Amino acid sequence: MSVKAAERLRPLLESFLASTDARARIGFDPVEFPHRYTDPRDIEVSALLAAALAYGRADLFRPKVEALLRRMGASPAASVRGLDVAGARELLHGFVYRFNVGTDVAVLLLGMGRALREHGSLEALFVRGWEAHGTIHGALSDFTAALRDVPLGELRRALGKERGLHHLLPSPLGSGAAKRLNLYLRWMVRGPDAVDFGIWKRVPASGLVIPLDTHLGRIAQHLGLTRRKDLSWRTAEEVTASLRRLDAEDPVRYDFALCHYGMSGVCPARPVRENCARCLLLPACGVGPRLTRSRASSSDP
Ligand code: SF4
Repeated sequence: MSVKAAERLRPLLESFLASTDARARIGFDPVEFPHRYTDPRDIEVSALLAAALAYGRADLFRPKVEALLRRMGASPAASVRGLDVAGARELLHGFVYRFNVGTDVAVLLLGMGRALREHGSLEALFVRGWEAHGTIHGALSDFTAALRDVPLGELRRALGKERGLHHLLPSPLGSGAAKRLNLYLRWMVRGPDAVDFGIWKRVPASGLVIPLDTHLGRIAQHLGLTRRKDLSWRTAEEVTASLRRLDAEDPVRYDFALCHYGMSGVCPARPVRENCARCLLLPACGVGPRLTRSRASSSDP
């Protein structure tokens, strides 16, 4: 994206952001789960569990996260800190959600428990990788590898074989966009505001990578933030680089508003002319003006 295009887009995105009622959308977002807690350790633990399982249909993954957190009690951090294989078996016996079974989630919970015992916080574990690599990709790779470093023998005997560990907690991080992990980082690092917590102070918001999903990817193309169509890490980096031209210190600040614009159906895969006509982003969009013009010309006498 050119500097000139960024200058044109910035005020539009600012108006768009100001018009978004983020609080009203939180209930449609997995960030709703960590917002139930006030202690930073409970927030980071519940957030990682919620983000890891936030794939597929919201009405299917939400009850799974809900039930797990309920069974973990008032403090998810205390729960994972004291968790052992027998406790994991009790908590996760019979758990299934699409690609994941109880053993997968047990690895995540036991890994978080060990991180809290050994490092004091998930932030401290992440910062180790961040300081070693200086990139989100490298830091996330170390983070997920450390969390997954849980002996599997006893767990398999207690809960059965793992099924989708790589889907739940990719390690090593590959060429995929790692949307849910970048979403988790956005929650922890940027802010605080109505959505994001800003409780990880040792990682700069300027280094974050956009949590790229199908909604954000589509709108990013419409706005000229990327020409790439795939949902890869490279595309996420390209979109983030464009957004850095708008705000170098906080490039992912528009993510929640843009993503929910797509999720809510206002900017769907097949754009709706009436919505485009009212859209604050219309002057910078590569799709909407064609649609709205075609209506104008078809209604010409
Ligand atoms: S103008 Fe239409 S297609 Fe473009 S961002 Fe707005 S709603 Fe989406």
